[in-house]
Amino acid sequence: MKEKNFPFKTLFIVLMSLMGLLFFVISAIFVFASINDPFFPPYAYLVFGIMLLIVIGLLSVISTFIYKDAPKHNMEPWMWMCIAVFVPNLLGLLIYLIIRSDNKTVKVKCITCGNNVKEEYNICPYCGNSLDYKCRECGTKISPNWILCPKCGTKTEQDVK
Ligand SMILES: [Zn+2]
Ligand SMILES: [Zn+2]
Repeated sequence: MKEKNFPFKTLFIVLMSLMGLLFFVISAIFVFASINDPFFPPYAYLVFGIMLLIVIGLLSVISTFIYKDAPKHNMEPWMWMCIAVFVPNLLGLLIYLIIRSDNKTVKVKCITCGNNVKEEYNICPYCGNSLDYKCRECGTKISPNWILCPKCGTKTEQDVK
């Protein structure tokens, strides 16, 4: 995994602040509109407030979800939080979910170099060592993360790093 250097975390915070500012400006416009217009219905505040709460609630749920979910799929959480929250009409979230389902293959650690690799790989793409682990007793294909063979219970030898 190449470490991404782009500060998505900062970008996310900046975008969030900008959006907060935008909401503030919209609220201010609303207040001024209601002052200047005596026929401005008071329930407009309520509607606007509820809408605002729904949007903020939804965005926090999405952000929290991605923050916890993205690392499990080897995805950069802050970058995806930016995309899911700020691409309009939840399109970003949709893109995230599509790419995520693509990435859902279980990741295992290569015992030779320690990189995360897909479980279905037979050879580690980082160090070229074999990932084709088999139980030494019964020959069942086992994951390098497992401590014992699920079929016969023999302990794997992989505890030696
Ligand atoms: Zn490796
Ligand atoms: Zn076995």
